[in-house]
Amino acid sequence: MRYKLIVFDCDLTLWDHPDVSSLKLPFRLLNEDEAVDSEGEVVRLYKGVREVLRTLKDSGYILSIASWNKPEPVFQLLDLFKLRGLFTYPQVEPHPDKAKMIRRLLRRLREDGIEVKPHEVVYVDDRDIHLPKILEEIGPVRFLRMWRDIKDHEDLLRLFR
Ligand SMILES: [Mg+2]
Repeated sequence: MRYKLIVFDCDLTLWDHPDVSSLKLPFRLLNEDEAVDSEGEVVRLYKGVREVLRTLKDSGYILSIASWNKPEPVFQLLDLFKLRGLFTYPQVEPHPDKAKMIRRLLRRLREDGIEVKPHEVVYVDDRDIHLPKILEEIGPVRFLRMWRDIKDHEDLLRLFR
């Protein structure tokens, strides 16, 4: 297996809301793929996300998150959608420095005895604004721009299974 770790963005990558930090807690589950905030705004998990993440995890990939958000809404949604257990050391912080988040993630893994080299990291995000800093500070991670390099989440299985 060429890659070991797949790091996901959240907003507009795992779910259809552009900024869950702007929503009012608590969330309430409408069905297994939809949650609503306390003012009625809906967050939908993209179709197939759950199955794809599960399959990647079962195939041996470490899955994690680098999200520029307040932690509370993201972790509440991951809990409601029953996704939290799929992710190892998810990094959710209210600043745009995803290089810092990925660096910390790699350090945490190393402390567990899991060495992941930059070229063994896949980073999936709907935006490429964080990429230059990540490439400069982390190294040659494989970047996939959601909805452009891959047309849906099932494409991840075609690439990595
Ligand atoms: Mg995003």
